[in-house]
Amino acid sequence: MPAVPPVSRQQAVQAIEEQFTLDKPLLESLSARFQELYDYGLANHGAEMQMIPSFVTGVPTGTEKGTYLALDLGGTNLRVCEVALDGNGTFTIKQEKYKVSDQLKTGPVNDLFNYMATSIDNFLTDFGTTSTEDVLHLGFTFSFPVEQSAIDRGHLIHWTKGFNCPDAPGKDVVQLLQDALDRKHIKVKCSALVNDTVGALLAHAYAAKGALISAIFGTGTNGAYLEDIRKIKKLKTAEGSISHMVVNTEWGGFDDERKALPVTIFDNKVDRESIRPRNHIFEKMISGMYLGEVARCVLLHLIDQLVLFQGFSSKLLNTQYGFDTAYMSAIEADKEDATSTSSPTRTVLVATMGIKEEHISAEDIETVRTVCRIVGTRAARLSAVAIAATMVQTGNVQSTGPNDDGVKVGMDGSVIEYYPHFEERMRGALRELIGEEGEKRVKIGLAKDGSGVGAALGALQAAKQLASGHR
Ligand code: BGC
Ligand code: MG
Repeated sequence: MPAVPPVSRQQAVQAIEEQFTLDKPLLESLSARFQELYDYGLANHGAEMQMIPSFVTGVPTGTEKGTYLALDLGGTNLRVCEVALDGNGTFTIKQEKYKVSDQLKTGPVNDLFNYMATSIDNFLTDFGTTSTEDVLHLGFTFSFPVEQSAIDRGHLIHWTKGFNCPDAPGKDVVQLLQDALDRKHIKVKCSALVNDTVGALLAHAYAAKGALISAIFGTGTNGAYLEDIRKIKKLKTAEGSISHMVVNTEWGGFDDERKALPVTIFDNKVDRESIRPRNHIFEKMISGMYLGEVARCVLLHLIDQLVLFQGFSSKLLNTQYGFDTAYMSAIEADKEDATSTSSPTRTVLVATMGIKEEHISAEDIETVRTVCRIVGTRAARLSAVAIAATMVQTGNVQSTGPNDDGVKVGMDGSVIEYYPHFEERMRGALRELIGEEGEKRVKIGLAKDGSGVGAALGALQAAKQLASGHR
């Protein structure tokens, strides 16, 4: 006799569905909480949703010109780029990606920054345009929470997304980079530090001739927007002639107190086994680094209830982060009949995950698809909460009249770019939150290369602000 009464597949899947469903009232309460935490973060230092002033006080118009270097660290790769802005909202970019090993991600911070300096040096040797100026200006996109004190100065608050160099928090990352460059006598000056959300906003504003909001749905998630300087209450140094500043919200830290988010046992498992438990739970429910992991935990739960794969798993499925979010994308894109022996879902399970063919039924294929849909849909609907809250925060929900052309929102990241139905599901929840009129005003554009072009635009903006005395 089994110790626990058996459940049917249907009961087990339904229980999962119930835990992951976010109905309208719940979405609304999350959005209200978002609003509260926006206000709190704008007024207080050290909030969980940090609302970081970027010291970027204007967004591009598309007429900017010049050639800059860009360095992008944050998601999966390190990138060095040379960006030539032509002043027509278009640009050319030369770029090279460099792998960042787990050892560099978690070892002494100087090793990481030396590696970045060396990568810049290699890039300049292989691809650099010979410049007549003696120093090249570089914009640095650093996609982690940094307390900025100037456009070219900022201290790392803490790491996210699997990075964890223990001696880095508290240090000025521009200084770390500049020192590493100087030690190697590389004639490059880091003149701007931007978060990737700020980069995406600048890049989209340049390409689309204006933008107010940006969001990253990639390895991690976060958003930025152009805020009225008077609302950034914690900023004591605001100068009279500045009207707006881009704020990096760090919404990955939304509701780390778990007062509103319906955190399931699967989310808690993902969180407690992660590098930084009790941090960025919202991000862990949304972004590409974690979605596959949430789904994996659900699949194992169904296996242990003996309603999936006859209770069998595989080495990879038993391994933390063994089920990549990219596999969920492939499964969600799968339109083939569940009985097909060559469906993408079956291929992922057998060829990639190593589940034995004889343990997989057609019903199992359906169940795996359902789990991916449930986890992916929740992510998209939670993302809508962040976008809706930012639309409300910027006073942009109502139409401005017959010639209203909405609000340009620049987005970047693997999830928004490649995860099937992500935008459509997000829009569904946006309609529930800010109505059809509000949802239509959200004009999403992909800020492709946002981190590269955005960094270059950051460097340009720094020069502009320096010239006008606003640093
Ligand atoms: C970081 C943010 C970043 C986001 C997207 C988060 O983990 O805290 O600074 O913008 O990932 O890359
Ligand atoms: Mg990135």
